[in-house]
Amino acid sequence: FHEFGHALHGFFSDVEYPYFAGTAVPRDFVEYPSQVNEMWATWPDVLANYAIHYETGEPMPKVLLDKVLETAAFNQGFATTEYLAASLLDQAWHQLTADEVPAPQDVATFEASALQEAGVGLAVVPPRYRSTYFSHIWGSGYSAGYYSYIWAEVLDADSVEWFKENGGLRRENGDHFRRTLLSKGGSVDAMDLYRAFRGTEPNIEPLLVRRGLN
Ligand SMILES: [Zn+2]
Repeated sequence: FHEFGHALHGFFSDVEYPYFAGTAVPRDFVEYPSQVNEMWATWPDVLANYAIHYETGEPMPKVLLDKVLETAAFNQGFATTEYLAASLLDQAWHQLTADEVPAPQDVATFEASALQEAGVGLAVVPPRYRSTYFSHIWGSGYSAGYYSYIWAEVLDADSVEWFKENGGLRRENGDHFRRTLLSKGGSVDAMDLYRAFRGTEPNIEPLLVRRGLN
């Protein structure tokens, strides 16, 4: 479902310049449409098509599905905090000027004070990655962009709400998502696309509900 979401972003592309086609969007926007597409994996009408017992052909019992869905909120206080700590550490490093960069022997001290200042200097919830092995942010494409995953999920969860508010799995809803957002690729500012689709600014509440943190 996730990868097919990326595929749809490409298939529906309708822009003048290939440079802006499909998934050629900012890093903190590219995972958003594919994450939205994951909503259909557990949508009852869709689930009934593939989640069937391999011998009896019986559909997955609702009680079992509900258990699976409930696990999504397990330990999210920890997971969200360690992720945000790493994202804030990434920002702290990449907002330094060249002459503010600490000497190698001062890296641990810099890290500790950056986490403290950001309000996430918590002994029981260390950041997901320490500075010295945080490969995402040292040349792996996520420099000052580690926050992208959760930002995409803010947009994703809020978009899922839009689909639910508008009747869920309906052709008109898919067409709206396609016309206002998927087809535009990176040819329009990402937040303008989002507002064109959603009709409003993104709201963080649906993500907090999804993670059981509301
Ligand atoms: Zn992806």
